[in-house]
Amino acid sequence: MSNNTWGNYKGEIKGVRIEALHDDPTAKVPPYHPPAEKEFISAMQSIAIRFGKLADKDENGIWVGYESRAKNENYAIGVRCENCAHFESANVCKIIKAKIEPGGYCRLAAIPSELVNKNKKK
Ligand code: SF4
Repeated sequence: MSNNTWGNYKGEIKGVRIEALHDDPTAKVPPYHPPAEKEFISAMQSIAIRFGKLADKDENGIWVGYESRAKNENYAIGVRCENCAHFESANVCKIIKAKIEPGGYCRLAAIPSELVNKNKKK
C-alpha cells in the first residue's frame, strides 16, 4: 500500500455525472451549467466521494472556509449555499462536512453566474 495521497487509487476516477436536466442553455429553468462549470462541480464531488466530505484542517489540505448566513457578506448578490450546485438540503452540503445554512457559503461554492448579481451588493 502506498502512503502518498493517491494511495491505491490507480487513477480510476469515479466521476460524478451532473444530471442532463440543466444541459440545455435555452432551457427556461435555471441553472444552466456550462461544460467547464460541470467539470468543476464533478471534480469537487468526485473528491468528496473519494476522500470524504471536506473540512478545514482535515488531512485533505483543502481550505473550505465556510461562513454562516450571519457572516456572509455576499448574500445579497446571490453567493449562498441555496444557489450552489453542491447544496443538498437546508443543512447538508454534498462536499463539506459542516452543517450548513441555505444563506451561508464557502470558498468552494459552485454558483452559476446567472444567479450572481453584483449590482445588488449595496
Ligand atoms: S457554498 Fe460551499 S458549503 Fe454551501 S453548498 Fe456550496 S459547496 Fe456546500
